[in-house]
Order: sequence, then structure tokens, then C-alpha cells
Amino acid sequence: MSILVQKYGGTSVADPTRISAVADRVRDTRAAGYDLVVVVSAMGHTTDQLLGLAAEITINPPPRELDMLLTAGERITMALLAMALHERGVPAVSYTGSQAGILTDSSHGGARITRITGERVRESLSEGKVVIVAGFQGVDPERREVTTLGRGGSDTTAVELAAALGAEGCEILTDVSGVFTADPRIVPDARKLESISYADMLALADAGAMVLKSHSVESARDRGVVVHVRSSFTDDPGTLVTDDASDAPLVGIAHDGGTITLVGPGVAGLVDRASSLLGAHGITHGPLVADAGKVALEVGPEHCESAVRCLHAGLVGLEVGQ
Ligand code: ADP
Ligand code: ASP
Ligand code: MG
Repeated sequence: MSILVQKYGGTSVADPTRISAVADRVRDTRAAGYDLVVVVSAMGHTTDQLLGLAAEITINPPPRELDMLLTAGERITMALLAMALHERGVPAVSYTGSQAGILTDSSHGGARITRITGERVRESLSEGKVVIVAGFQGVDPERREVTTLGRGGSDTTAVELAAALGAEGCEILTDVSGVFTADPRIVPDARKLESISYADMLALADAGAMVLKSHSVESARDRGVVVHVRSSFTDDPGTLVTDDASDAPLVGIAHDGGTITLVGPGVAGLVDRASSLLGAHGITHGPLVADAGKVALEVGPEHCESAVRCLHAGLVGLEVGQ
């Protein structure tokens, strides 16, 4: 059987109802013939709540203890999902990052995965179990300390596990139905992309598109993992992150604070047009800075969302030479 890695983000496992829905989906995917490894995030806003608790105790938590605290979030989800699968008659076992053999360097709060031994994962798969792995965490084998990978790090856990296990697929299941031409919460008519190149996805992620963590895109590119970003709420196909470059000059627009970034192979040719569009809408902006497949500009946080909508309406969908 072929291995499929699925990662479910915080909103997708936010409460017992959502965890039950994920368990149904996992059961059905397994019945379709996959050996399944399921990476989970902490439920809903648990990680923020844990950070809040630490902040009530001290403004300067020891990094080791902060990692001990934060890794508890994913541990809750993994155990509950395992219980939900047992309830459905599906054999399943949950592992922390350390138990799964996810080895990292020693940097608390922003560790890098150095190797995945994955012995217990493979063993449990061969026993016919669904293996649930806590995202965003590992262990530094030198000091035998638990580490975390930085916010959004469960995406990286999924990609690295897919590479280490030689998985046939790596699905990132989230609360939107794929990667869009802009954040669909800001731009309601943003379009879902069928596919996006690693380079464009990395540029969008670096510029604030939360849908994939930058480091997971670098891992996918370096290890040749095709990532399928899709909704955990529907069965619709999502977006494939692959080697294939786009034909369109502009692939997408990301924003972070007051900085907007246009991403795509031909965005350098859109600088004048972007500037006139903003001017026509009375939005003042800083200089447009072009750099290998991206153009960045500053508009100030208060105009950011309207500027993204304005640029999206005027630039997305243009063909080369238009
Ligand atoms: P998860 O909890 O599943 O990891 P995240 O909140 O980290 O999910 O990422 C999903 C969010 O990314 C979406 O809810 C959406 O608002 C945001 N997002 C930003 N830019 C984009 C984009 N270009 N395409 C899709 N989603 C985007
Ligand atoms: N729970 C962690 C976070 O909120 C990791 C993740 O969800 O990927 O950042
Ligand atoms: Mg995320």
C-alpha cells in the first residue's frame, strides 16, 4: 500500500465535532487503500492560549520550558483523534514528535529538523494502524530535549515526514480550499490556483500568505515533495505545489502589516500599472521594489486591504503582453 501524509491545521481540529469529522475523513481515506500518517496541529487557538498563560507567569519564560508548554497543544489533539478513530473501529496510535523520531537541532522555538528515524511510525503502519503524529515538535538528540519548529511548523512536520517515509502524497488540509491569488478572506473574488511553483509559493509565504509556512515550502522544494493544499471541510481538489512555473505574469498578491508583495514571473513588468491603479484610487504608497519574481511596496496598514483588492482587480488574470 502507498503512504499518504495528511496534515490538519488548527481550525480543522478546533473542537470535538471537527475532530470527529476529521476521524471520518481519515477512516474513509484509509478505506480507499492508503497507509495513513496524520499530522495534527493544536486545537483552534490553543497555542496562543498557552503563550498567554506563560505571559501571565513571566515576561521571560525559559525557552526550554516554553517548548515543554507549547508541545502540549498538539499532544491533546493527537490523543483525541486517536480516540475518535478507535471509536470508529479504526486501529490508530498517536506519537509525539520525539516518539516518532523527529530529530532536530537544539534551537528552542525555531528548531530545524535534521533527520527523521520514523521507526515506530513504520512499525505501526506495518501493523495496519493509522499513525497520528504531533506537528511542530521534535527532539534534540544531543541534549534529549523537546523542541518546537516555530509557529505554523506542523506544515514542515508533514512535508519532512512525507519525504522521510517516501510517501506517495502530502496533503495540507486547512480552512480554505487551496492557494488563492490573494487571501480569500480579504479578496472575496480571489481565484483558487490549480497549481503553483515552489518559487512562487515561497515568495507568497515569505510575504505573509499564511496558508503554508515558508520553511515547509523550502523543504518540499529541496526534497521533491508535491504538496496538495486543500480544504478539510470538502472533497474538492485544491492546489498542487510543484516544480511547474506559471504562464501568467502575476500569480498572487500577499500582504503583511502594511507591505504588499506581487508575486509571479512577470511582475517586474507591472510596476507602472500597479502604481497608476493605486494612484487612481487615491492610495499613496512607497516605491515599488522589484526583485526576482516579486515586487514589494509599502502602503501603510490602514490602506493595506483596500490596496490589495484594488491591485487584485486590476492585475490578476492579465496575460503576458497585455
Ligand atoms: P491552518 O490552521 O490550517 O494551518 P492557517 O491559518 O495557517 O491554517 O492558514 C490558512 C489561512 O491562510 C486561510 O484561512 C487564509 O485566510 C490565509 N491565507 C492567506 N493568504 C492566502 C492565499 N493566498 N491563499 C489561501 N489562503 C491564504
Ligand atoms: N500549533 C502551532 C501554531 O499554532 C503549530 C501549527 O499549528 O502548525 O503555530
Ligand atoms: Mg498554518
